[in-house]
Amino acid sequence: MLTQGLVAVTHNGYTLVKAVCGCNGNSAEVLANLIRERHLFSIEEIYNAALAVEFGCPVCLAVFTKTEAMSAGREIPSRYWKEFDRPDFNPRWDIGKHENRAQLEQAGVMTD
Ligand SMILES: [Zn+2]
Repeated sequence: MLTQGLVAVTHNGYTLVKAVCGCNGNSAEVLANLIRERHLFSIEEIYNAALAVEFGCPVCLAVFTKTEAMSAGREIPSRYWKEFDRPDFNPRWDIGKHENRAQLEQAGVMTD
């Protein structure tokens, strides 16, 4: 199913990690719960968790911080860092649109 997904880990409103995908984005909430329960933080942990819950697939999944990124061997377009500080901005689309989104505070929890 082609649904875009965005999961953002934030701290005090600042984005720490973003996970974006172009398919199966409807499992954004599942991924967010897993990150929360297992206290995942590194991009590698979050990347593997995303694939485990089928949030996206190896073709479209990208997990990145401001300085590091992880994807299936393919280079992530620089536009993915556009509006990185906005946890609700999906960089796969120019206008930042998303169908599915979950956001969680690193300490504490916030979702919509
Ligand atoms: Zn995909």
